[in-house]
Amino acid sequence: MKRIAILGSTGSIGQSALAVIAAHADRLSVVGLAAGENVERLAEQIMSYRPAVASMASTTALERLRDLLPAGTVALPGAARDGLVAVASHPDVDIVLCASSGTEALEAVLAAIDAGKIIALANKEVLVMAGGIVTAAARRRGVAILPVDSEHNAIHQCLHTCDRGLLKRIVLTASGGPFRGWSATQLERVTADAALQHPTWRMGRKITIDSATLMNKGLEVIEAKWLFGLEPAQIDVLVHPQSVVHSMVEWCDGSVIAQLGVTDMRLPIQYAFSYPDRWTTPLPPLDLVAAGRLEFSQPDTSAFPCLRLAYRALESPASVAVVLNAANEVAVPLFLEGRLSFPGIARVIEAVMDAHDPATVESLDEVREVDRRARVAARTIARGLESKV
Ligand code: MG
Repeated sequence: MKRIAILGSTGSIGQSALAVIAAHADRLSVVGLAAGENVERLAEQIMSYRPAVASMASTTALERLRDLLPAGTVALPGAARDGLVAVASHPDVDIVLCASSGTEALEAVLAAIDAGKIIALANKEVLVMAGGIVTAAARRRGVAILPVDSEHNAIHQCLHTCDRGLLKRIVLTASGGPFRGWSATQLERVTADAALQHPTWRMGRKITIDSATLMNKGLEVIEAKWLFGLEPAQIDVLVHPQSVVHSMVEWCDGSVIAQLGVTDMRLPIQYAFSYPDRWTTPLPPLDLVAAGRLEFSQPDTSAFPCLRLAYRALESPASVAVVLNAANEVAVPLFLEGRLSFPGIARVIEAVMDAHDPATVESLDEVREVDRRARVAARTIARGLESKV
């Protein structure tokens, strides 16, 4: 029996993970659940899965949860970062699925690594912000970080086909989002509602906007560097609108190995839980005939500059990726609120990066400080652009 803790259990990945656990109740059980503010859903999940420990993002939400549950149902040791740490490092947990969005879970992931837990990582901000710190900690402790992000999960599967020293490059596929093929002029008029309609994947709001700007792919490029220990020149991106090929690796002889599958996150989540085994699944099989044509093209980084900015961060000292991520986390909600244009997201990020002095970051405190300052700068710059929306 593998015992799981889920950080972000009420989100899209968290709910899919619980569906995987329900489908494999003979091999998987839930020990801990942590959620943001969705008290009612977490209460339902606790009553269905009976974890030993749970937490929420705020003390207000935690107290409301306590009121909803019969006394003694579950241990509620704390809220926010302390709560996440308690859930992630609970002694009965074998695997921590980090599926919360943003950077709140950074301390919890490090605490879980210290406690020797396997990390199933669905959150990309953790590696974008602190990839060096997190991967060094995992190496020291001999802990595996298993990627749940569908592209990295695909790469992880493909890499088992040969000796790592013979790898030439990896190719991450990108759907291209809802505005693939649009010109920079057309993108000026994009609304939040249109950007929230992703053609192939159903996901949370922040990651759906990141997919539309290609920042999601940019964050994934940085994530890949840390997960697989790659040089920037070894990481390529191809636009593949059908999202059937989840990603591929190219070996020194030119052979390319790809992983294909249905666009359903239950597949990569299950593989992270079953690894190194494979289990059967209730999902429908991949129907290549129904998929029809599989197309590939180069991403347009002049209309979608976020991917270019991510490559710039990839080739710079580690603080630049922190700045990229922080500025994006400020800009995306402003776009959703109608206070920033769609291309304004990349403009804010680039301006904050231009104003930043690149540096190495050695500790979580340094990461948090660079992050804090970048957010202040992003808000100031966004205010200057707002008047032009
Ligand atoms: Mg992905």
